[in-house]
Amino acid sequence: AKEQGKDQFKFFEQSANEMMVKKIELQYEIRRGIRDREFVLYYQPQIDFLTGLICGVEALVRWQHPTRGLLPPFEFIELAEESGLIVPLGEQILTEACRQSVIWENAGYKDLTMAVNFSAKQINKKDIVEVVFGILRKTGMRPELLDIEITESIAMENLENTLSIIKKIKNKGVKFSLDDFGTGYSSLNYLHKLPIDHLKIDKQFVQNMRPGSFEEVVIKATIEIAHSMNLVVVAEGVETKEQFEAILAYNGDRAQGYLFSKPVPAKELETLLNNDLKP
Ligand code: C2E
Ligand code: CA
Ligand code: CA
Ligand code: CA
Repeated sequence: AKEQGKDQFKFFEQSANEMMVKKIELQYEIRRGIRDREFVLYYQPQIDFLTGLICGVEALVRWQHPTRGLLPPFEFIELAEESGLIVPLGEQILTEACRQSVIWENAGYKDLTMAVNFSAKQINKKDIVEVVFGILRKTGMRPELLDIEITESIAMENLENTLSIIKKIKNKGVKFSLDDFGTGYSSLNYLHKLPIDHLKIDKQFVQNMRPGSFEEVVIKATIEIAHSMNLVVVAEGVETKEQFEAILAYNGDRAQGYLFSKPVPAKELETLLNNDLKP
């Protein structure tokens, strides 16, 4: 048994080493991917419950890897955050999203909001306010159309700092969304402290919602509280007509999910826009 334990330890040591090597390699590749502009944005529409039309999009990053194909964020975003590479990558993402927003605005798709995900490392970077303003200036994007998504845990990590940064960026008219609402430490206790505009109910609630379920109670209460604070409520992960109708009945404001579209490249999003918001 003792021998076996030793072998297992050796095995563990080896695979831990292998994992370390893999991580270093991946980190190196991410760096190269940023340099070679291999990261691309897909866009998922948000639908306004009142009009039934697309009122905005969320930009979601993908990695067009030269040998491994199109990679979703779970393959690289955590390591990008851990290594700090999310900072240059995040700047590329924001620049591209703003550039696309200007293209759509000029093409006549008016008032389409552009939601961009920010990670903790990005928002806590000293020069983040200047970076965001610089990109807005350089691309000529209307600041009112930019919607920065942060999560509860990001906001909690360094609340005072996050608060002051949000306030500065909002002075230009930029909007903020609280993403994945309901999944963090939670929530209602400091919700009123955050100067956000939109609250996104996490897809886990939407998808587990049944008549009389805990999730249903949470969604109803969240929408009511959010509205009393003048927040726009976005339901994520809406996959079925039943989910859509339930959230509509609870007075939700916007829906996002596979029921309407999965995230798609810019050109495909234009096809969706042409089917309703005619320029
Ligand atoms: P998120 O911000 O919560 O984004 C929503 C995720 O839910 C997306 O996954 C989207 O494709 C997926 N989704 C949308 N509708 C549905 C639905 O009806 N059903 C289901 N099952 N899923 C749906 P994705 O694109 O794989 O992104 C995963 C996460 O990666 C994002 O979660 C976000 O945390 C992160 N991420 C994506 N893009 C960026 C980025 O540009 N910057 C940063 N910092 N993080 C990003
Ligand atoms: Ca998001
Ligand atoms: Ca989310
Ligand atoms: Ca999430």
